[in-house]
Amino acid sequence: MKVKKVPMRMCLGCQEMKPKKELIRVVRSPEGDISIDMTGKKAGRGAYICKDINCLEKAIKAKRFEKALEVKISEEIYQKLREELKNEG
Ligand SMILES: [Zn+2]
Repeated sequence: MKVKKVPMRMCLGCQEMKPKKELIRVVRSPEGDISIDMTGKKAGRGAYICKDINCLEKAIKAKRFEKALEVKISEEIYQKLREELKNEG
């Protein structure tokens, strides 16, 4: 049996390559809105983060989301991400 190739993406927190489905996708729509993409199918430019609050906080501090998505991100979005990670347990 052939091994299926798993799509890998880099977490903005720890900057490690991880399987895409283990990461949370944050997407900037063509209109410039930022949202959390739980399906991984939304159109737009994406950035990825582990389901780990430490990675999230690291990425927020270093403004890596803003750099990756080339847009200013409000505290509200970060707060939403924190909530999302809490739900993931
Ligand atoms: Zn990470």
